Amino acid sequence: MEVRKNLQIIEGPDFGRYPYSNSLLVGRSCLIDAGAGETLKGVRVDWILNSHWHEDHIALNRVGRRVAAHYLDAEAVQDYEEFKRRYALGDLVKLFVNFEFGRVDRTFEDGDVFEFEGVQIEVLHTPGHSAGHSCFVIGGVIFLADVDLTSFGPWYGCLDCDVRDFVLSIERIKNEVRKRGVSLAIPSHGKPVSGTEEILKRLDDYLAKIFERDKRIKELVRSGEDPVGKGVIYKRMPEPREIYLHFERIMIEKHLAARLDELYPSSRATQ
Ligand SMILES: [Zn+2]
Repeated sequence: MEVRKNLQIIEGPDFGRYPYSNSLLVGRSCLIDAGAGETLKGVRVDWILNSHWHEDHIALNRVGRRVAAHYLDAEAVQDYEEFKRRYALGDLVKLFVNFEFGRVDRTFEDGDVFEFEGVQIEVLHTPGHSAGHSCFVIGGVIFLADVDLTSFGPWYGCLDCDVRDFVLSIERIKNEVRKRGVSLAIPSHGKPVSGTEEILKRLDDYLAKIFERDKRIKELVRSGEDPVGKGVIYKRMPEPREIYLHFERIMIEKHLAARLDELYPSSRATQ
C-alpha cells in the first residue's frame, strides 16, 4: 500500500499480527524491518533498518544486502547467544527462531539521518520495549515499530526492557508528533493511524495501559498477593503457559522496580 510518494507499507499477514510484522519500503532501496513473511517474497533492497532485535522484525533480514540496527540492539540482531540471553528463557527460546542470524553492517543512534532516493529517514531512539528500540520519522510519517498501539498495550518482558523508559519514550513520541505535525503513524502490528489528533489519542490510550497495570500490581502487592497469573498483563495464557508466566513475571518485576507513581498523569498535574 503506497501511503506517500516513495513510501510503501508492506503488510505482514493479518495486518502484521505476531509472529509477523509490517514493513515499510522506502523507494526501492531501503526496507524498515523484515518480518512481513510471504509478502516480502521477491523484495530485494540495499539496506534494512531494524527497529529492534525481536524475531518478528529481523527474520527476513536476508532480503537486504546490508543491515543497520541501533548500537544497543545490534548484538542481539546478529548473535543468537545474545538474543537468547535477553529473552532469559533458556532453550525455550528456540520456539521463536526459525531463521538464520545475519551480520549487522552498521549501527545507528538517536538523531542519525539516512537518505534513500531523496527520502530522509530520521532515527528516534525510543527505548523501553528493547534497549535500542527506535522509531523512524520520514517527513510527516512516523514508523512506530513496537510502540504498536494495540489494545494489549506495551510489552516489556525481556531483560533489556524498561517500563519507565517506555513511558518516557511514549511522551517523547507525542512531543515529536505534535511538533512536526505528523499525520500518519505506522505501527509494526495492526493498521496505520491517520491524523495528528487521532495519533496523539491512541498514544495516550496506549500509555494509560501502563499506569492501569501499575496501580493494579501495587494493589495486589499491598493486599499480600502475588500479582503474577492474576490477569494484570495476560488475560489469557495459551500454551506453552510457562512462557507467558515468565514474561508476565518479568514485566511485573519491572513495575515494582520502576517507581512509576511519580510519572502518573495525576501526580504530575498537582505539582
Ligand atoms: Zn518487539
